[in-house]
Amino acid sequence: MKATGLFGRKYVNVEKREYELGAVGPNEALVEVKASGVCGTDLNFLRDSDDDFHPLGHELSGVVLETGDCVKNVRPGDKVVVEDVAACGTCRDCQEGRISLCRNLIDGGGRPGMATHYKVDSRCLVPFEGLSFEAASLTEPLAVGITAVHESEIPFGASVVVFGHGPIGLFAARCALLSGAGSVGIVGTGRETPFGRKRFEVAEELGVKHLFDGGPDGVSGKVREIFSDGVDRVIVTAPPVVVPDAIDCCRFGGRVSVLGLSFGGRETVPLNVNRIVFNKIDVKGVIAEPAMHFRRAIDLLKSKAVDAGIFQTDFTGFDGFDSKIRDVLEMRTPSIKVCLRPGE
Ligand SMILES: [Zn+2]
Ligand SMILES: [Zn+2]
Repeated sequence: MKATGLFGRKYVNVEKREYELGAVGPNEALVEVKASGVCGTDLNFLRDSDDDFHPLGHELSGVVLETGDCVKNVRPGDKVVVEDVAACGTCRDCQEGRISLCRNLIDGGGRPGMATHYKVDSRCLVPFEGLSFEAASLTEPLAVGITAVHESEIPFGASVVVFGHGPIGLFAARCALLSGAGSVGIVGTGRETPFGRKRFEVAEELGVKHLFDGGPDGVSGKVREIFSDGVDRVIVTAPPVVVPDAIDCCRFGGRVSVLGLSFGGRETVPLNVNRIVFNKIDVKGVIAEPAMHFRRAIDLLKSKAVDAGIFQTDFTGFDGFDSKIRDVLEMRTPSIKVCLRPGE
């Protein structure tokens, strides 16, 4: 079985390649991809990466075409979303109930999810009904937002500030409100540009009360004008450069959950450790690997507690993909999230 998929590097250098998927193994399933979301990681590859071409896409939904002999959890014809990184279920951490610490992770083997077909270990598949394929492709990034909120252990009525107004930040802000936060703020940039303004508008639509336009001076001063003691929880989905500012926003005894990544030296930032120590601030690293919350994400999308239509602003087929990505990277279109439909 051959698949066609997308690979990319800078600058918006996209190659559509045909490759052999091989036979479906006993524990594997073959999925016809119907929708595949463009992640910030994909955008980073297409903007910055001068390595080899990277496989693009890991936020996909589709239909099971074929299953191996030992597969029991899905059948041909099932609609599924794909966990890009699943827990193994058999390592010591999994078996002792610390599934989020599983390091024996199962993934898609480095093949692109922006493809006509995807072959994967069936343990990565989660069946769904009652959602469009496009909406279902938001399951993975929404599950990251849920993970951020889950790991932040937000007390009922707490104040929360989320750094970053990209899809993950917006999902995290929405999930913080759903989980009982009393007041949520978001820190973004470019409020005067159509691109930035759209994101702040979406944040407001989701119920976020406080909008902070970040800059070189940070926002902790502005946050403390509203929350004089600082906020109970800070969730960082923006690059690490904002972490010192995020810590300055946090109240005594609060928690700062850090999801945002950078590479190439930008992951190293100076920190005032005394601030962390004297203020008893819990700084927590969060990564949604293995995936833990796909079923909850599907529930939220189905009930429209998280409305897919607000997030999915742009659609494209293989043709037109490059120009769509250029428009997003160069902020010519006020997009939140782009969805590729390989069959279009
Ligand atoms: Zn992603
Ligand atoms: Zn495991």
